[in-house]
Amino acid sequence: METGDSVASSSVDWSALARRILGGHVLTRDEGLSVLGASDSELLPLLDAAWQVRHRYFGRKVHLYYLKNAKSGLCPEDCGYCSQNVNSTAEIPKYSLLSEPAILEGARQAAASQARTYCIVTSGRGPTDREVDRVAGIVRKIKDQYGLHICCCLGLLSSEQAQTLADAGVDRINHNLNTSRGYYEQICSTHTFDDRLETLRVVRNAGMELCCGVIAGMGETHQDLVELALELRGIKVESIPVNFLNSIEGTQLQEVRVLDPRFCLKVLCLFRLANPSTELRVAGGREVNLRSMQAMALYPANSLFVSDYLTTRGQPAEEDFRMIEDLGFEIVTGDHESYRLFEARRNQQAEAADEAVPAGLNCSS
Ligand code: SF4
Repeated sequence: METGDSVASSSVDWSALARRILGGHVLTRDEGLSVLGASDSELLPLLDAAWQVRHRYFGRKVHLYYLKNAKSGLCPEDCGYCSQNVNSTAEIPKYSLLSEPAILEGARQAAASQARTYCIVTSGRGPTDREVDRVAGIVRKIKDQYGLHICCCLGLLSSEQAQTLADAGVDRINHNLNTSRGYYEQICSTHTFDDRLETLRVVRNAGMELCCGVIAGMGETHQDLVELALELRGIKVESIPVNFLNSIEGTQLQEVRVLDPRFCLKVLCLFRLANPSTELRVAGGREVNLRSMQAMALYPANSLFVSDYLTTRGQPAEEDFRMIEDLGFEIVTGDHESYRLFEARRNQQAEAADEAVPAGLNCSS
């Protein structure tokens, strides 16, 4: 992975580029390459340009996502970055689809963590129809009880499966392209870039939003990252998670080195400038790759995961809340409000039930 020259500076007027983008200009391939190749001394002007664009569409707001690994390991695919892949020897939990109470408990934790969106993720090439029906039934209950936005990441989907999920109230499907078309076969041989595009197509046809992102740091070139940033613009996805490889021992990419945090910020600026009004999430690998620069990521990005990732730990939610508060940013409560209403309703019901019990008998011990 190339990184920017730390001394030289380019001739790009980043602020002028931001103004042009806000006026409707579409980031070009060359401009994208300039972003990734910017010198470290240009980092603050570049972040300011990304901030101007982010601020136009999202102000100082931050969306939080909470992720539940609802089925772990046991995957027949060979995505080289993934600890759950068929060739991985990483020591990770392996289990089939969690029970309904366990997934509902995740929703409760998501709401309690001020998350706006609850992400239900399962390992595997794609779900069985039975798994889709189970997830759909659980989503109906989550919507009813917590009012959370629901994003499902279940692998490759058929049209019928996508429609079942849409009918149950799933708002969004996550299905990452991860890297450019040209580099895709370097990271996976069991399915193709076009297979993934096809799932994005059926999700869109079923009327759900698209969450589709990248994993930077898998040995790709700047050109690959720029191509994907522009591809996602073309697809008009609603949300882009920007992951930075957290190389896990036992995977094919275990030797790949950690990225430098300044380059990670340039990657976030690239995806923001290429996709001005799209939700941009600083996602997996944040803590490992951005380290002390994590807070800066929220100038181009407007969203992050709280708590843990699929098979790796995130930092405690309290540290994320503190970071957001220290930045002077504001967590979007959104549907969290419906959880507060739900809690209030439940407390009222509990009080009413207590009152209905004859005095002297309301002891559970
Ligand atoms: S990314 Fe998904 S499909 Fe690929 S190996 Fe991991 S769990 Fe399987």
